[in-house]
Amino acid sequence: MENNNGPKPIKKIEIIEKIYWECNFPEHRHQTEKAAMTCIKARPHPVKPRKGYRKIWIKVAKNIMAGATWKEAGASVGRSGERARQMTHKLFRISIHPANLSNRPDGINDFAIKTIRKNATFWAERIEYMEKKWGMNDSE
Ligand SMILES: [Zn+2]
Repeated sequence: MENNNGPKPIKKIEIIEKIYWECNFPEHRHQTEKAAMTCIKARPHPVKPRKGYRKIWIKVAKNIMAGATWKEAGASVGRSGERARQMTHKLFRISIHPANLSNRPDGINDFAIKTIRKNATFWAERIEYMEKKWGMNDSE
């Protein structure tokens, strides 16, 4: 029995829209406006947190490029090594997003510290790019 006249598989892509509410704390994603408001009321929230946190990301990433361990880089900004790793990865991901880099080189998605150091020139340039983009090159 042949089945060649049946339907053929058709590739479909469904895009899921995710809606969340920011309270201005980085990495907080509240599911409702009410929850974000509750969070804001629960403790002081910085008015302009983004730039401040970005400065910390840049500082941590620069320390990593200078040879620090995650733990040392985290300690330099009063955070854990795990947070330092997360912040650096976030900064790096943003810096190679198509909005910031049109031609992404192969193999650059590996954020292991060894690989980061291997691509030191690339990442130093990316950090500098983001610093300029975020208007931080005038600091320190
Ligand atoms: Zn929050």
